Amino acid sequence: MADYSMYHALGQGEVLDPNDPRRTTQPAPPQFQPPVAPNPYQQQGHPQPGAYHGPPPGQPYPGPSPPMPSPGFNQFQAQAAFPSGPVSPADDGGLIAQMGGMSLGADAGHGTARRKKKDRHAYHNVDAPAGSSQAFNGIPPAGTPATSYLNATPQLGPGQFAGGIPPQAGLFPAPTSPGFNPTPASPAEFAARSGQFEPVPSPTVVPASGQAKVSPDDMPSVPLSRDSVQPYFFTSMYPTFERLVPPPATVSFAALDQGNSSPKFARLTMTTIPATGEALKTTAVPLGLLLQPLASLQAGELPIPVLDFGDVGPPRCHRCRAYINPFMMFRSGGNKFVCNLCNYANDTPVEYFCATSPQGVRVDRDQRPELTRGTVEFVVPKEFWNKEPLGMRYLFVIDVTQESFNKGFLESFCEGILGALYGVEEGEERDENGEPKRRIPAGAKVGFVTFDKEVHFYNVSPALEQAQMMIMPDIEDPFVPLSEGLFVDPYESKAVITSLLTRLPQMFSSIKNPEPALLSTLNSAIAALEKTGGKIFCSLSALPTWGPGRLFMRDDGKHPGGEPDKKLFSTEHPAWRKMAEKMVSIGVGVDFFMAAPSGGYLDIATVGYVAATTGGETFYYPNFIAPRDNTKLSLEIKHAVTRETGYQALMKVRCSNGLQISAYHGNFIQHTFGADLEIGVLDADKALGVTFTYDAKLDPKLDAHFQAALLYTTASGQRRVRCLNIIAGVDDNAKNCIKFIDQDAVLSIMAKEASTKLATTSSTLKDIRLGLTEKTIDVLAAYRKHFLSQAHPPGQLVMPERLKEFSMYMLGMVKCRAFKGGNESSDRRVHEMRLIRSMGALELSLYLYPRMIPIHNLQPEDGFPDEATGHLRVPPSIRTSFSRVEPGGVYIVDNGQQTLLWFHAQTSPNLIQDLFGEDKTTLQSLDAYTSTLPVLPTHLNAQVRNILEFLKTMRGSKGLTIQLARQGIDGAEFEFARMLVEDRNNEAQSYVDWLVHLHKAVQLELAGQRKREDAGDGGALSQFTGLRPSYW
Ligand SMILES: [Zn+2]
Repeated sequence: MADYSMYHALGQGEVLDPNDPRRTTQPAPPQFQPPVAPNPYQQQGHPQPGAYHGPPPGQPYPGPSPPMPSPGFNQFQAQAAFPSGPVSPADDGGLIAQMGGMSLGADAGHGTARRKKKDRHAYHNVDAPAGSSQAFNGIPPAGTPATSYLNATPQLGPGQFAGGIPPQAGLFPAPTSPGFNPTPASPAEFAARSGQFEPVPSPTVVPASGQAKVSPDDMPSVPLSRDSVQPYFFTSMYPTFERLVPPPATVSFAALDQGNSSPKFARLTMTTIPATGEALKTTAVPLGLLLQPLASLQAGELPIPVLDFGDVGPPRCHRCRAYINPFMMFRSGGNKFVCNLCNYANDTPVEYFCATSPQGVRVDRDQRPELTRGTVEFVVPKEFWNKEPLGMRYLFVIDVTQESFNKGFLESFCEGILGALYGVEEGEERDENGEPKRRIPAGAKVGFVTFDKEVHFYNVSPALEQAQMMIMPDIEDPFVPLSEGLFVDPYESKAVITSLLTRLPQMFSSIKNPEPALLSTLNSAIAALEKTGGKIFCSLSALPTWGPGRLFMRDDGKHPGGEPDKKLFSTEHPAWRKMAEKMVSIGVGVDFFMAAPSGGYLDIATVGYVAATTGGETFYYPNFIAPRDNTKLSLEIKHAVTRETGYQALMKVRCSNGLQISAYHGNFIQHTFGADLEIGVLDADKALGVTFTYDAKLDPKLDAHFQAALLYTTASGQRRVRCLNIIAGVDDNAKNCIKFIDQDAVLSIMAKEASTKLATTSSTLKDIRLGLTEKTIDVLAAYRKHFLSQAHPPGQLVMPERLKEFSMYMLGMVKCRAFKGGNESSDRRVHEMRLIRSMGALELSLYLYPRMIPIHNLQPEDGFPDEATGHLRVPPSIRTSFSRVEPGGVYIVDNGQQTLLWFHAQTSPNLIQDLFGEDKTTLQSLDAYTSTLPVLPTHLNAQVRNILEFLKTMRGSKGLTIQLARQGIDGAEFEFARMLVEDRNNEAQSYVDWLVHLHKAVQLELAGQRKREDAGDGGALSQFTGLRPSYW
């Protein structure tokens, strides 16, 4: 059901039209300001469009012929099987033999080189979507021939968005087109939302056999799926109750919380779920929930309300302990409230009583955020404390060993901390005294420890002239050698701290111990934080080979068949495991900044285990070069220190009767199945997955409910519960549910489950890849078997509308460093495997399929705010394939972890000058360690810096700096080749071949002849103690 109009009729809802001037509960969102880079450039008229298209002086352009592979590419062709030029359909005999019957795909103009000006503008039009129900859910406009979907050009623009563009959704921030009709949805449109009167969304069809030539453009395009939706959400909010399928995770959108948590905090794999486990099984899609409880909001979104119910705490259900939320129903004139999760009728506490209207609505409802908002925070009383909540302790633990000093990592790390605490950026907000705003909240304190084979604590009391060092001599039995002055307010002690961090590299320049005693250091840090809890930021530049818990070189780099010994994926070291558990029990977590200056082994499996278990993060610099990586390190320290962080956390997920939790996937400790998740620290970037099974049939007349409650202490020292409330419709017919699939949630759950499986079972990498492949086939075959309303020729591969790009993302997963075939160091594999377990949907999406933006053919308006909307005009991305690369082209390629600036060998000298300065005219003249663009008064320079500023706002935890990848010059070209995930690389197929492979397997499945290549479902997961196998 989940029908908003019905919900309203029950008296528990209110139609929240964000544009309704009479609305009482939601103020109009503030205007979003696009990020714009510092800019000396005054935009005065446009340069000649196409200034970079013409042949550069004295250097004839190669013309329209395919780019010749440079020697640089040949170097790694053998390893990466990287196509050396554009793959024309005719070249791809294997595909053509099997594909056909389809006209050129929709995004030919999008995915390929954009030569026609007209095409380029298509994505910037912020014209309203068609204001009728026909625009959403892929319903063809009236009069569309029934066959049009087989050969038609899918619509571009907002109508393309399968998630449904609500015609009634609010304009945000202001109408941009007189054509937009912001009237509320009609009852029929609301009803359509529940899936009752709506045909199945049109599937996407890729012909996978036949004779005629076909362009790879026919394959569903990830860049198109992202770009086509963005313009709509630049001008409209996402109302969380009216619209139940969220925009793609890579889209910037402002959510309007209508009682259902924003997709930024919670994404269900499907927002209308089948009534039974059997029906769910026919979809082959898991029922799961991706939770990112402290996700950051963006401008235009309302802050999370913080509510204090005093000593009694927030009202809760007496039976299941669920917190009060917008979906609890008040009865008996307000004397009872019925729990939406367990259906128990509770007595309303006297102090919370309020009369209800004749319609059954509490008369104070609109004044109560806990009854109107899906995400709220409750300040909780003492019974929720296990120790006095305090402002968080930030303990910086700094590696001062020889390698750290020699490679400039020590200096960079100290500078990074200073920048994080005191740095002032241009245009940054200031407080009333004109001082920069505090980066860490009042009440929070900082402390400093350094280590090599000894551990040194520092008294940084503001009363001192200079910091005092105290050596902790006994690394066998660590303790804290000072009682006062270790933790201070960073602003009161600014002078002492600044002086200390500035002098540290000099202080250790002559000592140079090679071996760090990390375990002892962290144990003494635990001693310092035992009473308070807190967060550790620890640098490390060498394998910790000294003292108790010393580690040794476990990975000799020999991995026969690309399969490392499973022991390399985890740690059996009891002292390290014990330490990690101890940290969680006292409310401590660690972020590591690990640099391998010579690419050496750091045993991330063991050291990073501490970060992963405590809810922290590992920032890994596999080949740290100070001049190049300084800026990235600084950005990441600043981000880690300043992002919203809570500590001493416990998490509990509740769901409606009939459902039960089958597994959690993420970084935490769970002592017994069913117990709360224990998390040392949790920050804005961390997400975890929960999967569910059925233990009874759900009533399709009722909705299904989920509530995630995170009990934590804020960095400012308040004990709170953050509550996320999520609602889903229930339908007897699974066919109606597949219209409500959220592709990003499905991918996240599958990726996290694969990562858990690799870390905790005997499954090999090959097993994981086969498992992912088989799951992709399961989903496509299940759709074809159970849900197609019209017959399709066997030669067509049919993809569910909501999972159009699913196959491509799954190929990206098979190719990612964590799971790919071929040789990779265990450090990198383990690092990325854990990353996947903690990533949110946005970071994962980019990780599986990078953004690639050409910058050699920008339109003059690109990279500047659109006059109509105030948003930056971001040029469209292209498919990540070498076949899309143009001669002379320059591309930003960003996978959320690193950002490459790739230059074709024939790049115009004019372009290089405009980007880097008058004196730079050749690729060879550029500094290989360039990490940022200079600020120049040229149009192109301003455009590209603005685009990079925008990309900074659309990623996870990693700092955005550029790394040069010049064709035939830089080693980073290999990374570029890796990121072109549509090509054959990373020991796996091209997108085209992958689809052909999937299609064949689907055919076999339909014919009853498929032989599964994996071990089947559930087998590996059922080996967990206390874990039921998930059904898929
Ligand atoms: Zn209950």
